[in-house]
Amino acid sequence: MDPKQTTTLLRTLHYAANMHRDQRRKNADASPYINHPIAVAELLTRQGGVSDLATVQAALLHDTIEDTETTREDLEIHFGAEVAAIVAEVTDDKSLDKSERKRLQIVHAPEISESAKLVKLCDKICNVEDIAHNPPESWNLERRLAYLDWTEEVVSGLRGTNEALEHLYDKTLAHGRQVLSKADA
Ligand code: ZN
Repeated sequence: MDPKQTTTLLRTLHYAANMHRDQRRKNADASPYINHPIAVAELLTRQGGVSDLATVQAALLHDTIEDTETTREDLEIHFGAEVAAIVAEVTDDKSLDKSERKRLQIVHAPEISESAKLVKLCDKICNVEDIAHNPPESWNLERRLAYLDWTEEVVSGLRGTNEALEHLYDKTLAHGRQVLSKADA
């Protein structure tokens, strides 16, 4: 990566960290929220072999429109239209109720851009991992299992994008189900 790209990437991380600065994950450790977008971006580059800068930036920013004050326009000003568009594609419409948002993710998955599919795949891998091993404290087993089932439906619409990531998703899902079936016993 050339020095200019490194600077852009760190500027993006700095922005995301600042926007998520007061947020914690809902797991028992209440880990800093920013750990999640960092994990998604890291997975994208390491496991997915993705080096496209805009896609990696979008991974770092993927929850900013949905979960912080940031708007698509803000992202356009700071990072350009391409990055803003990818983040917008992986953002749920929060004016809709939760079940409708979840249904729309399944419907829209096959229609989004390749970059958005890559970010979404990594997001779902990280989330399945978290729900299996480090879930929100208030979630019971049934809710965790239902979440895994739902991600499988979303991911079925993302397939044909990146073999390594899709394989990792399958492995992570199978392992997650195994962990939860033991938790049931
Ligand atoms: Zn996410």
